[in-house]
Amino acid sequence: MLGQMQDWPLLIHKIIDCAALQHPRQEVVSRLVEGPIVRATYAQVRARALKVAQRLARDGIKPGDRVATLAWNNQRHLEAWYGVAGLGAICHTVNPRLFPEQIVWIMNHAEDRIALVDLTFVPLLEAIAPKLPTIERYVVLTDAANMPPTKLKNAISYEEWIGDVDGDFRWPSFDENTAAGLCYTSGTTGNPKGVLYSHRSNVLHSLFTSGLEVMAIGPSSTVLPVVPMFHANSWGIAFTAPMKGAKLVMPGGKLDGASIYELLETEQVSFSAAVPTVWMMLLAYMRKESKTLSSLKCVVIGGSACPPAIIKAFEDDYGVEVRHAWGMTEMSPLGSVCSIKPTTPIKTREDALEVKNKQGWPPFGVEMKIVDDEDKPLPWDGVRFGRLKVAGAAVAKRYFKEERDCVDASGFFDTGDVATVDENGYMHITDRAKDVIKSGGEWISSIDIENLAVGHPDVAEAAVIGIRHPKWDERPLLIVVPKEGKQPTAPDVLGFLEGRIAKWWMPDDMQTVSEIPHTATGKINKLKLREAFKDYRLPTA
Ligand code: ADP
Repeated sequence: MLGQMQDWPLLIHKIIDCAALQHPRQEVVSRLVEGPIVRATYAQVRARALKVAQRLARDGIKPGDRVATLAWNNQRHLEAWYGVAGLGAICHTVNPRLFPEQIVWIMNHAEDRIALVDLTFVPLLEAIAPKLPTIERYVVLTDAANMPPTKLKNAISYEEWIGDVDGDFRWPSFDENTAAGLCYTSGTTGNPKGVLYSHRSNVLHSLFTSGLEVMAIGPSSTVLPVVPMFHANSWGIAFTAPMKGAKLVMPGGKLDGASIYELLETEQVSFSAAVPTVWMMLLAYMRKESKTLSSLKCVVIGGSACPPAIIKAFEDDYGVEVRHAWGMTEMSPLGSVCSIKPTTPIKTREDALEVKNKQGWPPFGVEMKIVDDEDKPLPWDGVRFGRLKVAGAAVAKRYFKEERDCVDASGFFDTGDVATVDENGYMHITDRAKDVIKSGGEWISSIDIENLAVGHPDVAEAAVIGIRHPKWDERPLLIVVPKEGKQPTAPDVLGFLEGRIAKWWMPDDMQTVSEIPHTATGKINKLKLREAFKDYRLPTA
């Protein structure tokens, strides 16, 4: 027997409708590329999003068509994202930090028809436009006064573009499984893969992740997503904040310590989310300038492993709770968040920090398991590590334009990560499967060693890669970037690690470099590092 409740499709535009109706005066504050910090209300954002949809329809955009954005987190980008999806078209948030050739590849693969572009990225698009035959028009996210002279096809400023319609438009209604957004993984090996979110998956993801145990976002929150909308939907925050009536603070393209600090304080932000490098810059700035934080209560840190030193600094020096999180583009993106369950046996501050270093547990809506090479589930003992697999309502089933599903026979998606899960259910990422170091048939976790190494006072950043070894297959090499004016030696840093990791995990050597390469989503680019050190020979070999 079926239930007899209403069929109320979970559509993204219902989020901005609800925000405009229930929280019409709640603010969206943005730092514009043009410089100033501007304010709007959810009522205004919705009205302008409707104009975007109306204008797109007039430009011939049909349901299912892709509209690209290359933009920072700001009000216009937010309006565009609701306007595009609200029409039934697909908002393709392009990561402008990718290499130009990758951008060309994904925009052609997506067959984007219109591109909405922040001023910052106009020169980038001018350089690649000849290779983008599917784009019919470029809309520059600015007003007529700031519109640069450009030869981009049918270029128009956003304000003129939406100024041309009256906003008398109604969202169409359609199936909640309709595609709403498209985001490509950075594809460190092979071509990027497109993850095609649906209205339903995005709405559910925000419902799953707004709760107290995850992001704790509500009407009295002031939320600053440093994580860009083009990086896996700003971890859902551009949906979650309006859904919950929270004030939204959009940082634009200025993500340095001073700029983020300014917004945190002037807007009295209570919650923020970003990758570790952003927080490192903020902490360095605050220390140098002897600043304190007056409103920030909680930060979510994820995207790559958060060094324990960052967690300790936020919590002990600034009184801000850290929630370490893990996820991926394919998961919309949140997979787990580390908030402490009250039943966790914690006696000391050290116990608490040990738990907080883990990536945490999945919210409702995500199932998780670790398996061995034969795909057999491994026990949750906090020791045995295996491949991390996930299933859930906001997890990808198939990549865009692929013919086969990307899940196994039981419906689980292999994340490519290696992890342990402890008896209390906290998951801890030990490596990417392709980065794990295989020494004498055992696995060494590069992330654990890196995290410890950055605890050394003279080390700014650290990476560990496997180097061929005649006897052990691979042995770890530690690569460090020294802090400004410091010259840490191998005996210094390796001596610092001694006793903190298993003896056989000890790197065989250390090399210093001025810079460690990063991917477009801010992760250490191990592929490039391995390439750079391919001729290096270990002293123990
Ligand atoms: P990309 O397109 O670069 O893969 P994603 O943001 O989708 O971008 O990356 C997902 C991957 O990032 C995960 O599979 C995992 O390897 C890594 N990752 C994310 N968060 C964490 C974390 N807290 N600790 C360790 N690794 C993380």
